[in-house]
Amino acid sequence: MKYFNLNWLLLFIIYTTPASSKNSYQIDHLEPPFWWAGMADNTLQLMAHGKVIADLEPELSYPGIVINQVHRLDNPNYLFIDLLLSETTKPGKFDIVFKESGRPLISHPYEILKRNADSAERQGFSPADVIYLITPDRYANGDPSNDSSLRLEEKSNRQNKDGRHGGDIQGIIDHLDYIAEMGFTQIWLNPVLENNQKKYSYHGYSTTDYYNIDARFGNNALYKKLSVQAKRKGIGIIKDIILNHIGSEHWWMMDLPSSDWINNEGKFLQTSHNHLAVHDPHLVQSEKDAFTDGWFVKSMPDLNQHNPFLATYLIQNSIWWIEYASLSGFRVDTYPYVEKMFLSDWSKRITKEYPNFSFVGEEWSSNPAMIAYWQVGSHRYDNYKSYIPNMMDFPLHEALVNSLLNKETWETGIKDLYKVLANDYLYGNPYNLVVFAGNHDMTRIFSQLNNDFDLYKMAMSYIYTTRGIPQVYYGTEILMEGPADHGTLRADFPGGWNNDKVNAFKGSGLKNEQKDAQSFTKKLLNWRKESLPITKGKLIHFYPSDGVYVFFRKYEDDQVMVLINNNNKTKNISTDRFFELLADKKQGISIVGNKVYDLTSKINLPGKSALILEIH
Ligand code: CA
Repeated sequence: MKYFNLNWLLLFIIYTTPASSKNSYQIDHLEPPFWWAGMADNTLQLMAHGKVIADLEPELSYPGIVINQVHRLDNPNYLFIDLLLSETTKPGKFDIVFKESGRPLISHPYEILKRNADSAERQGFSPADVIYLITPDRYANGDPSNDSSLRLEEKSNRQNKDGRHGGDIQGIIDHLDYIAEMGFTQIWLNPVLENNQKKYSYHGYSTTDYYNIDARFGNNALYKKLSVQAKRKGIGIIKDIILNHIGSEHWWMMDLPSSDWINNEGKFLQTSHNHLAVHDPHLVQSEKDAFTDGWFVKSMPDLNQHNPFLATYLIQNSIWWIEYASLSGFRVDTYPYVEKMFLSDWSKRITKEYPNFSFVGEEWSSNPAMIAYWQVGSHRYDNYKSYIPNMMDFPLHEALVNSLLNKETWETGIKDLYKVLANDYLYGNPYNLVVFAGNHDMTRIFSQLNNDFDLYKMAMSYIYTTRGIPQVYYGTEILMEGPADHGTLRADFPGGWNNDKVNAFKGSGLKNEQKDAQSFTKKLLNWRKESLPITKGKLIHFYPSDGVYVFFRKYEDDQVMVLINNNNKTKNISTDRFFELLADKKQGISIVGNKVYDLTSKINLPGKSALILEIH
């Protein structure tokens, strides 16, 4: 034994010096910090980190739990401890004792908790939901005392558009009533785990601790409180998770568990960002690897999920947060950049524990085939198994903006919307796609549409009525503007900070057009919640003709009809074409405006407008 003599010396020091000066053996991290009894999978792998603890042998004594195996990697500061639980394992506390040559040196407390009732059967989100996307640093500052933290590098500076502005979890809790009254039923927060980076940390995509909420947002208990209080108002919480990379200041980076933990041996190598590399049958292997194994940016080291210990760590971390914070869903960042066999295992395990949980992947491509590849139930060109139920519908976003901005010609204009949906045969379930007009990474939709309120209402009418689950970026409801520059498009929500001149939560100081947009959003969202054709119905559409696109949502005998006139001029639309759906129906009532339309004659539809009718 290589360290035999040294260890005797260490033992001598440990047993002959006061506790305060013992620094040779200690556990710096033990993760997951606790677990639950009664999970579908009865294995649990603990990662223990501490100086040369690989010398030690862990033991425990607790009914229904045994240590199955202990793994040592090339770094002696880590132990991976495989526990095996059983169906009869009861919640309770015990100590994991780390011994050397039979002598106990460290005792670390551990706990197995009781699961919440119906935890495994939790329901995720569905087309009956509308997701509100919040950048937590930029929404509301509910606790100015946590704007900066002594322990964390970057301090608050609201004057810096790329700095931390002080928004937090308490700010969201404080405004749950506003969110609920607007009609949002799910909140997707950009990541809230600790990001102890020197700068540009507010966005949250550079994780430095997978098990702790950033102190500038609150803490784990407050995050859980948000979830509990939101649920009381009928709102679920969707956690933004990053499996692809960490922040360069993650504690792993100071002491990597193994040389293959980070791709390219821990050294920066830029990804090619060529998403097609995953599927391209002609591409050389080295360029395929360059996409998934390269780093997103220098400050985000790329995780090697081929390493089975890292893979298990990430899978357990995902499950831990679902169980701990009673989550209703995940949004998974940079999905195709992650090693695909790992994604298969990860999504399978999540689904095994929570069969009705929702999780939505981000694949930023305008090609529906590249989105469909990942969704459960889609036909694939290979034997790849995927279990992810939801994907972000980037192709629909691009088609929506193009259709409204481009001139009506034989091949451009509103037909783009029709064409993108005609690809829905590729998807396992197109109704489970998440549809959106904007997110935290793109120019705000009002700015994309040249600040044209008519185009905005057309876009949002479409998002709220087409197939899928709508997602709305905070501030869209009050026409917030912003270019592609991240710091600016993620501007502070007015009213979220003390002394803000404009308060959008109360409606004070908003321009008339902003107030109209807010009441338009509130009206449509609260209506769609109760609409069976929208939340459960099929979509049936008609090939666009003369710049007019018409589609129906139909559930049993209930129908909603949506008409979009993309011309500048008014159109008188004959209803003859819609006979299969309208049959003997004679009347439509507009959702916005509550106006009655006679469906036996022509419908007068002003230029650049959308009309949503409930059919009677
Ligand atoms: Ca704060």
